[in-house]
Parts: sequence; C-alpha cells; structure tokens
Amino acid sequence: MYSSIGELPCRKSNSQSIGSVLGQSPLGKPLDPRVAEYSVTGLTICSFYYCMMLNVLFVMLSKSVEPEFKYIGNMHGNEVLGRELLIYLAQFLCEEYRAGNERITHLIHDTRIHILPSMNPDGYEVAARQGPEFNGYLVGRGNAKEVDLNRNFPDLNALMYYYERHNGQNHHLPLPDNWELQVEPETLAVIKWMQNYNFVLSANLHGGAVVANYPFDNSREPRIRGKTSNSATPDDKIFKKLAKTYSYGHSWMHKGWNCGDYFDEGITNGASWYSLSKGMQDFNYLHTNCFEITLELSCDKFPPATALASEWLANREALVSYMEQVHHGIKGMVYDENNNPISNAVISVAGINHDITSGTDGDYFRLLLPGTYTVTASALGYQPFTKTVTVGPAEAVQLDFYLKVQPKGNVKAYPNKKGSTTSKSPPTNLGPR
Ligand SMILES: [Zn+2]
Repeated sequence: MYSSIGELPCRKSNSQSIGSVLGQSPLGKPLDPRVAEYSVTGLTICSFYYCMMLNVLFVMLSKSVEPEFKYIGNMHGNEVLGRELLIYLAQFLCEEYRAGNERITHLIHDTRIHILPSMNPDGYEVAARQGPEFNGYLVGRGNAKEVDLNRNFPDLNALMYYYERHNGQNHHLPLPDNWELQVEPETLAVIKWMQNYNFVLSANLHGGAVVANYPFDNSREPRIRGKTSNSATPDDKIFKKLAKTYSYGHSWMHKGWNCGDYFDEGITNGASWYSLSKGMQDFNYLHTNCFEITLELSCDKFPPATALASEWLANREALVSYMEQVHHGIKGMVYDENNNPISNAVISVAGINHDITSGTDGDYFRLLLPGTYTVTASALGYQPFTKTVTVGPAEAVQLDFYLKVQPKGNVKAYPNKKGSTTSKSPPTNLGPR
C-alpha cells in the first residue's frame, strides 16, 4: 500500500534548505501544489552565520473546521533523522494522495498538517559540515549561539505544580514578563507559531535513543541524588496511549531494548527517565491546547544516508498512525444563542484537571480515550452548560454547545477555578516570574 515512497531514490542528508529540497522532488517533478510552504510567523532567524527561515510544509485541502497537527524535527541540529523523515513524509502524503490511497486521502481531507523539518537549521549546518562519521554528541546540538533549544522555553512547570496544590488555573498558563527577550529566535518563532494556530496534537523528533517520551519532562519532586520520579500530567492515560501508538507503529521501538537502554513497551514518562526543565513538550501542554510527545528515533544521531530508506520504512506507519490520533475524543463548536461562535470558551472534562479552549472560530478538539465523560463548556458572560458523552474507539464524537448569556446582575467572574480571571499569585521564588 505504501510502496511508492519506498521506491524513491534515497536523498542524502545534506545542507540544502528545505525549500530547495521541495522545489525538486526526488522524482524530478514538482511536488504536489497542495504541499504549500510557509515560514513560521514569517520570522527570519538571523544567526551568527546568516539568515534563514524556519520553513513549514503545510498539507491541507479543505477549509472546514479541522484539527491542526504538527511535527517538528531537528530541534537539536545534530539529530538529523527526524528532519529527513519529515521531508519523506510530506512527499509520501502527496504521492499517496495523488495515487488515491484511501487512508491518506481521509487524513488529508480531515486534518491540517504542519511539518517543520528543521527547527535548528544553524545547528544542522554545523553538524552536517562534520558529516555522519565525525558527528559527536554535542557538535551542532545547539543553535548558532550554542544554546540548547529544548532547554530554552519559558519554565511553566513550577507555576503549574503550585497551582495544582492551590486549585489554580490548569491550562494556558501565562508567560513571564519580557519572555520574548529571554528566548532564542528559533524558540520565539515557534512560540508565536503555536499561538497563531490552535494545535491539538504534535510530536517533536529527536535522536540518540529509541523511545516515545511523554510529559511531564520536568519532575514534580525535587531531585534527590540521581533518583528520578514519574511526573504524570492529568492526561497521563491518553499520553501513554499516544506514545504507544508510535512505539507499536514503529518496527522495533516497542520491543523496549534499544541503544543499550530498556523502556517498557518503548515508552517513558520524561521525568522518570531524567528530569528536564524548559523543554518544548511540557510548554505545549501548559501554555496551549496542544498535546506533544518527544520521539527519540535512532541510536545514531546522524545516521549515514544509506540508513535512511530502512529508517523511513521503520517509521512510516508510526508517523501516519500518530497523526490519525488527532481524531479521537470529542470535537465541536461553542455558540451563543444566536449561533455566533464563541472563541476562548473553556471545555472542562470532569475528572481530568486540564481544560482546553475553543479557537478563534469557536471550534474545539479534546483528545479523550474511549469512555463516558461529563463535559462542561463555559465562557465569560455566559451560563456554563454540561453534557454527558460517550466516546467510542472510532472517530471523535461531535458535541456542540449553545451557551445562554448570564442574566444581568448575576455575572460571576467565571471561571473561578480554571480560567484566566482568577489566580492566586505564587510566591516570588516559584514560577517563571
Ligand atoms: Zn535531542
């Protein structure tokens, strides 16, 4: 079913820009125009070396309300497999769509797919100059200023853990003052990108191990000499399912023994492996609606070009089935009584202390495992409305809400627990501010 991409001549790891790669597909003909390219927020990354864009491949057809999905590769410039796989993936989606592959057609019709093959083009250049044989553990990992981008996002975990203990808001945590000045240009571009699209699901592709790593990366417990501890999110069950979707879709990740390490079923909670702060994965969950996991895809950070074809075959099913996960749970619209969409409405699921919000068009997507849930939609100035819904194993259940205006004189500052209208201030020694 997927034979066409397997027969493509394997492109070498090289330092061409993503744009020039797409301009000349391996088949020597232009890629499908449906793969449009855009740069993340149009922001140019001007580094020590030169200026370049973070280019995104965008696969979409319909303009109807659909969930937004993203893949990000090569955040560590010397971890190149993700970058190569994502370029293959964009080509594969176009080829299979053109060939009438039912599964891919369905995916492209129903999903807005954003692919950023390289988040760290400068680091990649440094690593690529060394080539696969001489690539060390660290050369090219950081950006041009040698800053590790996966330790460069605003730290929201301390604030989250404080709010967990004090019944504070449980989503869209605020950024610290002047955060723009505290992050690298690549990080700034990616955060602006996340703020411009209502992403639902994402994965961030790395190398140096083989495992699907899910949040939190940052440990709740203070570190005790070499000990690590599991640091679960309120969505732990769904994150495990998402990670397993990848590990079992992958030819050998799920087997557990890889690169001298063992991970049961090929998955791990980030903090239980080793605690990491200011990472991108936790930031997605704490500042946006997006659920992101981190995929470690190869023992060798810079595999030779000869390994790429078999790596593509090992990852192809996993990359596709992970994208399909964006269609599980509930989705719908939040309207007022006159059918006007309400943006930024809060969708709460009883028993899961993590809300999500509707996008600018009033649409929302909430990933959930099969089960029966009590779901409440609320928005400032409106009466909250609660519904019960049963989610099956198939596609997301449509669940729309129509909210009535709050009667005058009875306007409560809602939400009192989980919105941006209230929050106790954390002690000054905690949190990002
Ligand atoms: Zn990495």
